[in-house]
This record gives sequence, C-alpha cells and structure tokens, in this order.
Amino acid sequence: MPELKIELTKNPKPKPTDETKLGFGHVFTDHMFVMDYETGKGWYNPRIVPHGPIQLDPAAMVLHYGQEIFEGLKAYRTPSGKIQLFRPWDNFKRMNISNERLVIPPIDEEFALQCLVKLIEIEKDWVPHTDGASLYIRPFIFACDPYLGVRPGDKYMFMIILSPSGAYYSTGLNPVGIRVESKYVRAVKGGMGFAKTGGNYASSLIGQHEAHKENYAQVLWLDGVEKKYIEEVGSMNIFFVIGDEVVTPELQGSILDGITRRSAIQLCRSWGLKVSERRISIDEIADAYKNGSLKEVFGTGTAAVISPVGHLKWDDMVMEINNNKIGEISQRLYDTLTGIQYGKLPDEFGWTMEVK
Ligand SMILES: *Cc1c(COP(=O)(O)O)cnc(C)c1O
Repeated sequence: MPELKIELTKNPKPKPTDETKLGFGHVFTDHMFVMDYETGKGWYNPRIVPHGPIQLDPAAMVLHYGQEIFEGLKAYRTPSGKIQLFRPWDNFKRMNISNERLVIPPIDEEFALQCLVKLIEIEKDWVPHTDGASLYIRPFIFACDPYLGVRPGDKYMFMIILSPSGAYYSTGLNPVGIRVESKYVRAVKGGMGFAKTGGNYASSLIGQHEAHKENYAQVLWLDGVEKKYIEEVGSMNIFFVIGDEVVTPELQGSILDGITRRSAIQLCRSWGLKVSERRISIDEIADAYKNGSLKEVFGTGTAAVISPVGHLKWDDMVMEINNNKIGEISQRLYDTLTGIQYGKLPDEFGWTMEVK
C-alpha cells in the first residue's frame, strides 16, 4: 500500500457554534483526502491535506462528459462521545460497482476505508454533538485529463470531503409530499440507474424543479419504459406497507441498491414482517389507497434515514397517507436505525464500526 501523507492546516476554522443551524452540505471541515490515478501507474499519492479549492484544467473530462461517481455516508457521535460509522464497507464496495459502470479504475476498498478512518480521527472534533446531527462523508472520483475526445479518462482524482450536517429535512421527521413524475424519467435498465453518479442527478433535476413548483418536496420516479412501475425517489429508495406486507421495488438495474434500504429490509424481516422486493405499479398503489389497504409510505436513504410520505400526488389524484402522520413501521425503523447508528441501541447485526 502507498503511504498516506498528512499535511495539517495552519489555519483551522472555528467549529460551528449552533449545530441546529447547520443544514445539509454547507459547512466543510479543515481537511480532505485526495489520491491520484494515472493509467500505467495506478492509484498513487494518497494524502490528507487542508480542505480547499483544487486546480483543474477547463478541459478536464469530467466537466464535459460527466465521468464521475460518488458515495454518501455519515459519522455519528455516541452518548459516550465515541464516533462510529454505519456499514462503511458497503459504501466502498458500492463505489467499485459504480466505478465499473463508468469505466473508472477500481479502488482498494480496505485502503480507502483506512484513509477515511484516519481523516475522521483528524477531524473528530467536527462530528456534531446534537441529536440527529452527524458528519456527512462524501467520497467521489472523477476523470481529470485535459482532453475533449470521448473516451474513459486516463487520469482520475479520488477525494473525500466532510460536512457537519444537521437533520436532513428542515421539518424533521414530519411526513413529506411527493409527486409522481409522469413526463420525465430518471434512468432505464441498461443505463446508469444502479450507479451512484452525478448523471442520474442531472437527469432528475427537472422533475425536482417541477415538483417544487407545486410544493412537493421530492419526486417519485416511474420506470423509463412504460412509466408504470415504481422505481425510487432519486435520493431515496421507496417502501409501501400494503395490508400486512412491506413492499419495495426489486433491484433490476435502474435503481440504487441503498444501504438504508438493505438495512430496513433486514430489520423488518427480523421483526417477523413479510417483506417483498417486487415490481409495484402505480396503479396498484392507487388501488390500495382506494380500498384502504395502503397504510404507510416511506423513503430510505443515508441522509434522511426514514422519510415518511404524507401525500403522494399522481396526476390529478392526491393520496393522503396515514392521515399525513408517520406510520408505526416507519417510526420503528427510524428509531431502531438511528438508535444503532448513534450507539444508543445494541448493534446486533454488526453494522457499526468504531473510529477512535
Ligand atoms: C444514495 C442514494 C440512495 C440511498 O442509498 P443509501 O445507501 O441508503 O444512502 C437512493 N437512491 C439514489 C439514487 C441514491 O443516489
């Protein structure tokens, strides 16, 4: 393994004084991780350096053709003041799945995790103390060769930046409104939907923009072929409780294999609930709503953990879910997942990793 070099800042920033005003993704810590890649040389020069602007040629390939991937995870402070990560190995594994789809050279997952742990050890005082707040971790890789031809890059940068963040939704765990998008699509089978890459987000911005105009917080995407089957919420996977069945769309190539999704499925099954990963049409949801069997709808993702859906708008139909209140299963999942993440509940699944 190459040696990790460390250059500490001479100008540490003041830590945020009011952690309730952090929001999401505005504030960054003092240091970041960087590693370079060149064809023939492999990944080299891993380093922790002061957080700051980077130099990039205006012809850098990522700026033109979008060859990049990213991850998102969090560091949590436990009541005893320790810091822990939640299933971090799953994020680095997924990073390589995304890398493969975008023809980005694979990283050494174990080494990347070691570098992240070192970075968090250096930045440990930046991990918020407030309930619900955490240190958001953003690893990402992009092609940086100055070249305007279309081909996979020969040069890449792998970076990790850290952002102390408050609760993702400013309204807390209050149910959100979601608009089913029936004009645009996010991804198709054979496309990049299963990869965590900026391109999927670029493609989803217009739907989000339209939803916001109608005062809906997020978009529920339908499949790109028939616009009939439910996919995901763009930054969250989606779950429905229909009768006594917990249902979520199966992983078929166009949606992300969320780590929170995986954890929610495991938890529900451990509670003896029936969980199905299968195709769900929007008509099935509308029918379940009409006959009263649609009990809960919620999104899952690292940022929000569990996001209950209070209203689901599909064309002219507005479904009010569970009287716009958080449902029993949503609440139990939220309490259990955050309990494990913040070290307040025993970690029976071996999901957490302690950082010194
Ligand atoms: C990151 C992401 C999710 C949620 O995944 P988690 O691993 O649970 O954070 C869901 N959908 C998309 C498109 C994403 O990018």
